[in-house]
Amino acid sequence: MKLLHTIRKSIFLTTFLSLVFAFSISFLSQYNFFFKNLKQLEFEFVEQKKKEVKNEVLMLHGLIKYKEELLYKTLEEKLKNRVNQAYSLALSIYNKNVGIKSEDEIKLLIAKALLDFKFQDKNEYFFINSNSGNAILFNKEIRLSENLNILDLKDINNKNIVQTQIKIAKESKEGFTINSFVKPSGDSKEYTKLTYIKLFEPFDWHIGTGEYLDALREKNKSEFLDWISSLKYENSQYTFLNTTDGYSLIFEGKKLQHPEKHPFPNYLKKQVEISKNQDGGFYEYKFKKPNSVEVFDKISYVKEYDTYGWIIGSGVYLDEVKNDIQNKELFFRENINRQLFLLITIFIIIVMVAYIISIKISKYININIENIISSFTKASFENSIMDTSRLTYSEFIGLADSLNYTLTNNILAEEKLQEYIKIVNQNVITSTTNKDGVIIDVSEAFCEISGYTKEETIGKTHSIVRHPDVPIEFYKNMWDTLLAKKEWRGEIRNLNKSEKEYWVFASITPIIKHGEIEGFTAIRTNITDKKHIEKLSITDELTTLYNRRYFNIKFEDEIKRAKRDKKTICIIILDIDYFKQYNDTYGHQKGDYVLFEVSKVLKVKTNRASDFAFRVGGEEFVIIASIEEDKILQFVSSIKEGIENLKIEHIGNKASKYVTASFGVVCIKDTNTLTFHELYKKADDNLYEAKKAGRNSIFFE
Ligand code: GH3
Ligand code: MG
Ligand code: MG
Repeated sequence: MKLLHTIRKSIFLTTFLSLVFAFSISFLSQYNFFFKNLKQLEFEFVEQKKKEVKNEVLMLHGLIKYKEELLYKTLEEKLKNRVNQAYSLALSIYNKNVGIKSEDEIKLLIAKALLDFKFQDKNEYFFINSNSGNAILFNKEIRLSENLNILDLKDINNKNIVQTQIKIAKESKEGFTINSFVKPSGDSKEYTKLTYIKLFEPFDWHIGTGEYLDALREKNKSEFLDWISSLKYENSQYTFLNTTDGYSLIFEGKKLQHPEKHPFPNYLKKQVEISKNQDGGFYEYKFKKPNSVEVFDKISYVKEYDTYGWIIGSGVYLDEVKNDIQNKELFFRENINRQLFLLITIFIIIVMVAYIISIKISKYININIENIISSFTKASFENSIMDTSRLTYSEFIGLADSLNYTLTNNILAEEKLQEYIKIVNQNVITSTTNKDGVIIDVSEAFCEISGYTKEETIGKTHSIVRHPDVPIEFYKNMWDTLLAKKEWRGEIRNLNKSEKEYWVFASITPIIKHGEIEGFTAIRTNITDKKHIEKLSITDELTTLYNRRYFNIKFEDEIKRAKRDKKTICIIILDIDYFKQYNDTYGHQKGDYVLFEVSKVLKVKTNRASDFAFRVGGEEFVIIASIEEDKILQFVSSIKEGIENLKIEHIGNKASKYVTASFGVVCIKDTNTLTFHELYKKADDNLYEAKKAGRNSIFFE
């Protein structure tokens, strides 16, 4: 999967899932909260409604109380003002006339003046009493001269009317009093009257006026009832008003023109009971709804206004509360659906925005990543340094810097390595083959020493550089070692393209993979020069046979080898016959020629790997041959004949016309008994015997 897609998917999915999670939680909690609390809500809603009706009743109760108090206050103010006016009038009359007119005249003037004071209501008037209880102006009549003492005047409640007034005048100079009194205009019935009196000091009178409360109160009540019945409520809610003595004044929110006995006296009885509590109270019952006969559960709150003997009440039908709750639930559902729609819209918008942002971000990151990838690709193929200016994120820049650092080091290391490889390639003779020995690769140095180009070697085997003189056993031995998965080390004599001999010291290692040989690598050093020097040191200059020094080494080695291999080894010493004579006859130079020609015969006869020919003295040679005893005479004879067959004239040779040689031969199988010197001596002794026997002969025993 592409990183770009992963990033895009991650951003998008994270946003998407977060939103789904957040929205789900929000919705579930809202739903859960609402339905879990539905019972509580119902309870609270009923409580709320109860509170509302209670407040309604308390408000009406407070209002009526306030209205009553206001009525009193207004009335008090009015009475107070009137009395003060009357007092001022009386006082001004008194002041105007004091010292001018007699006291009685002044009194009469004042009484008249106050009697003349006209009010709208004929039931309103001023009165004057002396503080000793005499009526001065009484019931709209001047009783000044009558000496009418009304000190013991009482109302129907047995309240001492005048004494109370005198008490107020004396003690407080002015004040209110309530008592019952007849109306001047009407029947003989007494009506509640509020009176204000004020002390009139000049004559120790008190002047007063009063007003009958009933009419005012009735007016007040009527206004209040009108007002209540005009109130409008939701659903079937309404205010009702009954009297404690069983009448209904407002029934189902409507004012009754004439008070009627309450249709449900039992309910009213209970209402009266509860309403008499100081704070009023609730009560539950079943009651019909306005304009209906069906009854429903209802809770009402009632409170008594004792001044009027009224019960003010207001109630709520519980089925309507339930309806309200259902409406509320419906409203909630609609609301939540609206919210859901809105949130889904927002959700879609956010998801789309998130999608666009995720694409932008991932693209932006991808540019960096693609730059990094292309740079890595370039770096891996071309080793080129990354351009960090194309990157924006510090993490990528850091990565690029690290890559550049590694690349720089790699380039340096690569350069160094290439240098080394070049040096190795030029100087170390290496080759690699497959498991069948077919060359796959060779170094420059290999090409140089072998004389073949790389193309000429690849696909061929190393037999192209094989020296014909190297025996087959040598290679067989090498292959045995290598196929046993072991390293082979040794000197190899090779022949280059120009058929020139060269020597290498080779170290050949099998390449093993999964336990199987896959091929071979060979590292060689050129030892041609060393070999040359070595050869020179063991070669006789004149004859190119091995010299005496090498004989000493080789002789010992071959004896040891024969011992080890338990093989027969033969020593042949040969000496040219009458050679001194030859030199004397033909000259020394010719003598050298003879030596050379004889050597050639020896060389040819010892061309087997196990046979060696040496020039150990002037005209004395030794042959070491690994040959069976029964075949030795035949071998030596062939040499002897080979020399004679050279047909080099030698007139001083008594044994032949030609140059000949004599041979002393010793063969041994078990060399334990003889030392190297003893063996040589024995051969030499045998040579002597051959000489003694007439020369051009072989002595072997
Ligand atoms: P015989 O061995 O048959 O008993 O007789 P001979 O004459 O060969 O005896 P001897 O071995 O005593 O003589 C060796 C002679 O070989 C002496 C010397 O003149 C000759 N000679 C030795 N070295 C060389 C050499 O390098 N070149 C030549 N031309 N002659 C040599
Ligand atoms: Mg000799
Ligand atoms: Mg000799």
